Formats: sequence, structure tokens, C-alpha cells
Amino acid sequence: MPKDNTSRRDPRYDVLFEPVRIGPVVAKNRFYQVPHCNGGGYRDPSAVVEMRRTKAEGGWGVIFTEQVELHPTSEITPFIELRLWEDKDIPALARMAEAMKSHGALAGIELAYSGVNGSNLYTREVPRGPMSSPILTFYKDPVSTRAMDRQDIRDLRRWHVEAYRRAKTAGFDVIELYGAHGFGIVQHFLSPLTNQRTDEYGGSLENRSRLLRELISEAKDAVGDTMAVGLRLSLHEAGGLENRELRDLIAMHGDLPDLWDLGHGTWEACSGPSRFVEEGAQEPLVSGSKARTTKPVVGVGRFTSPDAMVSQIRRGVLDFIGAARPSIADPFLPRKIDEGRVEDIRECIGCNICVTGDMTMSISRCTQNPTFMEEWRKGWHPERMNDKGASGTVLVIGAGPAGLEAARAAGRRGYEVALAEAGTELGGRVRLESRLPGLAAWGRVRDYRAHQIGQMANVSTYFDSRLSAQEVLEFGFEHVAVATGSVWRRDGVARHNLAPIPVDPAMPVFTPDDLMAGRLPEGREIVLYDDDHYYMGGVLAELLVQKGAAVTLVTPANLVSEWTLNTLEQRRIQARMIERGVTIVTAHGLSTVGRDGVTLGCAFTGRPRALACDAVVLVTARLPDDALWHALKAREGEWAAAGIRTVRRIGDAESPAPIAWATYAGHRFARELDSVTAEGALAFRREVTELGPME
Ligand code: ADP
Ligand code: SF4
Repeated sequence: MPKDNTSRRDPRYDVLFEPVRIGPVVAKNRFYQVPHCNGGGYRDPSAVVEMRRTKAEGGWGVIFTEQVELHPTSEITPFIELRLWEDKDIPALARMAEAMKSHGALAGIELAYSGVNGSNLYTREVPRGPMSSPILTFYKDPVSTRAMDRQDIRDLRRWHVEAYRRAKTAGFDVIELYGAHGFGIVQHFLSPLTNQRTDEYGGSLENRSRLLRELISEAKDAVGDTMAVGLRLSLHEAGGLENRELRDLIAMHGDLPDLWDLGHGTWEACSGPSRFVEEGAQEPLVSGSKARTTKPVVGVGRFTSPDAMVSQIRRGVLDFIGAARPSIADPFLPRKIDEGRVEDIRECIGCNICVTGDMTMSISRCTQNPTFMEEWRKGWHPERMNDKGASGTVLVIGAGPAGLEAARAAGRRGYEVALAEAGTELGGRVRLESRLPGLAAWGRVRDYRAHQIGQMANVSTYFDSRLSAQEVLEFGFEHVAVATGSVWRRDGVARHNLAPIPVDPAMPVFTPDDLMAGRLPEGREIVLYDDDHYYMGGVLAELLVQKGAAVTLVTPANLVSEWTLNTLEQRRIQARMIERGVTIVTAHGLSTVGRDGVTLGCAFTGRPRALACDAVVLVTARLPDDALWHALKAREGEWAAAGIRTVRRIGDAESPAPIAWATYAGHRFARELDSVTAEGALAFRREVTELGPME
């Protein structure tokens, strides 16, 4: 496509902006936001609408919904996605499609019949699948499917046709049938694991693909004149529809769908975290697919580098650059490439905090993009700040994620910002953590903000500036953000032990702060006690093994790094611990630290157990480093005379939490400068379900 006059993009990237035909419709470029969850779904429809609208504005060529449950006989409560069960579901989806198309993108809807993956806890309908089998969900619900007979299959096809028509009425351009990640009926029929039927829908690949053939043909008959019909499939299902057979399937039905959207395997594999999976990692599985079809192929790979994207297109691996997380971290990624602003891309760090919003049925956050899912709720835009208020100067103390984001966002609003950092480098905790095994990508949180701040004449950074309350008062900035971070506890207190535990001073005890500062245990036998349950325990165990230690990881939980079930990392973390030779002791709390070892207590029976060791690493809780804030608060009476209007503590200095909470706190601080929230008013907009009639 010829470049328009306003485009300053590097000609190397022109190929990414070529239009691509998908059946009866044409995408304006190759940027394809694949379906992704967001924790909002049917509960927060307008929040999802505005989130998708920012992607339209950001230049994506195709924008998809999350999975849309197409019939009440198959739903995935407690997870909150979208629904298209009845005509009354159409208006919310029509609003979604309108937003997606607002800047020329194609609007896509992912239709899901969850089959073996839907417990129907809400509708109480009996789940249906290719055969009678236990429901396969994260919660191991004690429910099973009934084997679908021929009438059930006819019903299923009819329900699909009704959903296609509703999707068309809602204004969508592209349908994808969900058959990936183990989450959709198309895959359940395709897989010899979940389909062991002996009729014409089971057995050979041809038979197992009969349902998808029928569903797609009927979609084309019903809506194919105006809508494209694509398939979203897993590239590899271990022991089931493996990559070799998937290739046979594409060859067999190459031109049946209008598009092939191919994602790794399980959701854990497809949304691989950066700690374990590189950018573009699915290439070996997807390459060669294009040779088996004339229809466009979409693939994902946490792509943030335009060079990596171009390489995939040029080498004939993909037609579309699929992206979920990179589009969350930076909804304006295509536009930034188009405008020659590659260095402004806010790169996804691959932490999967976004996934946790879905897994906890709350609302998704993004570590890099604090405005994600706040576009409608708070009116936050990922690229535009609200206008500057009446005051002029801001002092941000501490250059960790909270302080950096506060300085960047306040600078963007036009305030004169001073960023004071006690140390000699930017980044706070991400500077230190990004040096730990597997966490290099955490550094992107700092890099993006350091670059942005570096461009702003109104933001000045001061190193070696450990500020005291007296200095803050003398400087007299109008607004002060105290973003001084947190420190790890060394008394054993966290979730299992709410009170400090006895520690013999003869036993060397270390915290993550010590290890990150390079103070490592000297002895060989190390007990690492993890009552934090996120990534730090496993990462430090890995570090210690690298340094030659024999590590026993003890946790009161039943799994290593248990909270990482929510980031889809848990299995990989525990596998890595096993592979690295870490001894794992689960379901045991730490009772005492003695001079020669520790005493543990069984989390179920309390039964004690002794473990000899040379040193102990406590990965427990963190405490806010809030001495400066308290010192300032104690002198509140002097603020006005010093010219200070507000002092706020933000991020870990207020309450220790993951990095995403810190960037959010920094952003919120900047957004709310000079604003007054009415007493009792909610800080965000929400939708309330319309009451139905009582009869
Ligand atoms: P957060 O995650 O909330 O951003 P971090 O722990 O990552 O917190 O960052 C806190 C930063 O604040 C660190 O870089 C630390 O050096 C700095 N800091 C702590 N106390 C002071 C102080 N009194 N003056 C200036 N900087 C400080
Ligand atoms: Fe990427 Fe993490 Fe943001 Fe998800 S939360 S989009 S993984 S940076």
C-alpha cells in the first residue's frame, strides 16, 4: 500500500500495512488483535467496548471480542466473558462492533460452545460433549458431559446458525469458531482424546472434522456473503490433535474457512510468560501451515518488535500478526510503527498479570498499561492525559515503577516535575528484579518510562537524592508523591505466621532484598521459605541453585508459587524447580529458625519436622518503606507555609503489591492532580443490571 503523506514509518515496515482479504471482507493491515479475555465481559460491557475502541484508534486492522458463549447449554461460570444467547444480548455486542469499526478495523466475534470445558454452574443445563466424560476446567468441577446424539448435533448446528445471524445483526465482519486451548467444541470433536465416538463423527480425521465442516459450511450459507468465517485452532495438543495431524487437517480443509487463526496449544502454552517463552516461540509449530491453504494464516508470539513481525511475513510464516498481550500493553502499537515512533512502543513484559483479571473474575490490569480496562470506567486514555490543573509543580520521591509512572504521566499533563531518587539508577524494584533468572523483561517497565521522561523538558531527574522531610518542606513543591517502595520482612511474618517467629541469631537469615543486593548465603544447604506464593520464591531458588547451593523450598501452600496459577505459570515453575534439583516441601509452615536448622509444622496436622541447613532465605511479606511519609505527615501543619498542597504515598510505599499495582498507583496520582472527587462518589463508572419484571 502506498504510504500516505503523514506517515513517517520506516519503509521496512510497509509490508505490515498491506491490506489482506479475508473472504468477503478486507483488513486494512496485518495487525490482528486476536480474541482475549479481560475479566469484564458481560458484567462490564461498556468498559470492554471502550477498551476495544482504543485499539481501533491505535490502528489495529482486525479487532476481536473475547470468547462469546453462543448458547446457554454451554457456559463457563465463574469466568466472565460475553454472551449471545438471545436477541437481547445483541445491543451490547452491537455497541462493541461499532467501537471496533470506528477507525476502519474489521470487527471480529469469537463464538464459543464450550462443551467439555463448560460446567454450566449458572444455567444448570446438562453439559454436552462428543462423549460422556468429566468436565475439564481449572476447578475440576465434579460434573460430566452427556454424549451428544445425532439430534444434539443437529441442535448444536442450529444454535450456531442462530448465533451467526445474531452476530451479523450486531454488525460484526468476521466470525471465528473457537477450537483452541481445549476450550471449544470444535477441538473437542477434533481431538481423539475427547472424541472416542464410533459413528460418523468419530474415528478418522475426516470423521472427527465432520462437525467443523458442517458448522463452517452452514455459516457460509447463513452469513458468508458479508461475513468472513475463520477457525481458531490449537497448533498442538499433546497426545491428542498433535501438530502433525493439525497439518493434515489444514491440508484436508485448506480452503474451507476464510482464515486460519493458529495458537500454540493449551492456554498456558499460548500465553507463555516471558520467564519461560521467547517472542515468536510458536514459529516451529506454525511454519508450513501457509503452504497447505490459500487462506490467510494468523499466529501469535507476544510480538512487540516490528522487525520480528516483518520477518514472519517476509518468510511466509504468517499473513497476520496476531496479538493479545502486546495490544493490551500498547493499544497504539500499529500506529506507533506507522508513525515512525517505534521507540515509543510500550512493550509487553510477558508477566501475565492481565490474565489474572480473568482468572480472579475481577477486571484485568496491565503492568505496562495502567489505563487498560479504565478507558470507560475512569475515562483514561492510553495515550492522552487529562488537561493540566491549576497548580504547577510536582515532586516525585523514588524512581521505582510507581514514581516513574507518576513522573511520566504528570509530565505529560504539563506539570513541572522533579523526580528524586536515592540511588544512582532508575527503576527501583524492577531494576533489581530484572537481573534475576528469567525476569529480564521486567526492565521494560523502567525502559519505556525512562525514555519517555527523557523526552520531556518539564521532567527533571535527580540521583543520589535520598530526601528527608526537612528537604521536602524546604523545596516547597505544590504536590508530593512519596514512592519510596518497600522492604522484605525478616521475621517470618506473612500469611501462615501472622506473628514473628523465634529466630536464633546464630543462623544466617536472608531476605530477597539481600539476595538482590548481591549478599548471598555462604553455606551450601539452604532452606528457602516461601509464604509469598508469587514468583519471587521460585526465582530465588533458581538463583541459589545457579550459585551452587542445595536448596529446599518450603511452602505452607500445596503448590510451589501457588498464586501463579493465575498467571498460567505454576506448572512451569514447579517443573523447573524439579528439573533444577530443588527439594520441594509443600504444606509446611516455618515454626522456628534454630542455630543448626529449622522446625517446620505440617499445615494440616501441625506435626513438627526438623530440617538441618546452613542458612535460611525468607520470602514472606513486605513492609512499606514509609518513614519519609510519616515524617512529612507529622509536620502537616507546616505544609501550607512551605507551599505544599498535597502529599500522597503511592505504590509499595502505601501497600506492597505486584508491579502492576505500582504503575497504576503512579498513573492515578498524576490523573487526579488538582481534581476533587465529590464526597461519597465512586472513583469509577459501573453498570448495574437492569431489573426484570417480577411476574
Ligand atoms: P514502587 O514499586 O512502589 O515503585 P520501588 O521499591 O520499586 O517502589 O521503588 C522505590 C524507590 O524509591 C527506590 O528506587 C528507592 O531507592 C527510592 N527511595 C526510597 N527512599 C527514598 C528517599 N527518601 N528519597 C528518594 N528516593 C527514595
Ligand atoms: Fe503484557 Fe503483563 Fe500487560 Fe499482560 S499485564 S499485557 S503480560 S505487560
